[in-house]
Amino acid sequence: MSRARGALCRACLALAAALAALLLLPLPLPLPLPRAPAPAPTPGPGPRAPPGRLATAPRLRPDDVFIAVKTTQKNHGPRLGLLLRTWISRARQQTFIFTDGDDPELQLQGGGHVINTNCSAVHTRQALCCKMAVEYDKFIESGRKWFCHVDDDNYVNPEGLLQLLSTFSPSQDVYLGRPSLDHPIEAAERVQGGGTVTTVKFWFATGGAGFCLSRGLALKMSPWASLGSFMSTAERVRLPDDCTVGYIVEGLLGARLLPSSLFHSHLENLQRLPPDAVLQQVTLSYGGPENPRNVVNVAGGFSLQQDPTRFKSVHCLLYPDTDWCPVHKQSDLVSR
Ligand code: UDP
Ligand code: MN
Repeated sequence: MSRARGALCRACLALAAALAALLLLPLPLPLPLPRAPAPAPTPGPGPRAPPGRLATAPRLRPDDVFIAVKTTQKNHGPRLGLLLRTWISRARQQTFIFTDGDDPELQLQGGGHVINTNCSAVHTRQALCCKMAVEYDKFIESGRKWFCHVDDDNYVNPEGLLQLLSTFSPSQDVYLGRPSLDHPIEAAERVQGGGTVTTVKFWFATGGAGFCLSRGLALKMSPWASLGSFMSTAERVRLPDDCTVGYIVEGLLGARLLPSSLFHSHLENLQRLPPDAVLQQVTLSYGGPENPRNVVNVAGGFSLQQDPTRFKSVHCLLYPDTDWCPVHKQSDLVSR
């Protein structure tokens, strides 16, 4: 059951998501739902900014951001090693790894930023929601301004992320990410105690592309997300972690998802990203063994065999001074 519902959010509608991704590149999406009034735009000189958007960008420090990477024990070797050598090496203070088992070696590599959630190591709605609940609590405890969640098959462009977030106010309601579908999801909502079932419609950002929440909005989510209550909230709609975040933000709080085309999951065709746009994206992903061709199209010093995910190539284009990157003249690094 939970796997099936998970598939609804993360996989079954992959085709629709890919089409939507192509169609929905311009921001913002038209949102046909009846909604609570949007928060007032940030006052300031110049043209009116969308809700939460700042007219002038203040300086955001890397450690204002809390990046939670969701992983599981069996992925520590195959997936985490690559992330630690690439983007996490440039975002050490921001990044926290949430897993489901003790791994002293990973703890060492992660500089103490590895959290054993003690959630079960299975791909079920409950186990995934358990991890999200711990991520949420740790973020609140951290006092940081922004919470971003990614999977262990995402590349995060730390500077791109900082640049994007610095255009918003963390004290306003900001929920940024890539919608999984081209329409709001409809879920049956069961409220504890009463036997009534109502229908709720909301947008959500797909977890496989990563998403971010402002501290202001995260604090408002607390009655439904803190101290493990995220799990019972997920039970109300019987949906996985990423859908539950959308349910809380849109369905319960009346805030809204700001769609961003800068976040990417392997549900879309990553080859369609223009090579000269790859380095401007905030997150990337790769298809994995079942779809090895679904990777971003970048040139660089690594063949597809040497770098099947293309994360090493992307990393060396962003950070050519990395000690393991091939030494190239800047003029050689033009994308094919
Ligand atoms: N994951 C997890 N527990 C599991 C299986 C997967 O926490 O038992 C995490 C995994 O580390 C990744 C995310 O869930 O961050 C998505 O997993 P995967 O990429 O394997 O599947 P997808 O949903 O993208 O097809
Ligand atoms: Mn994945």
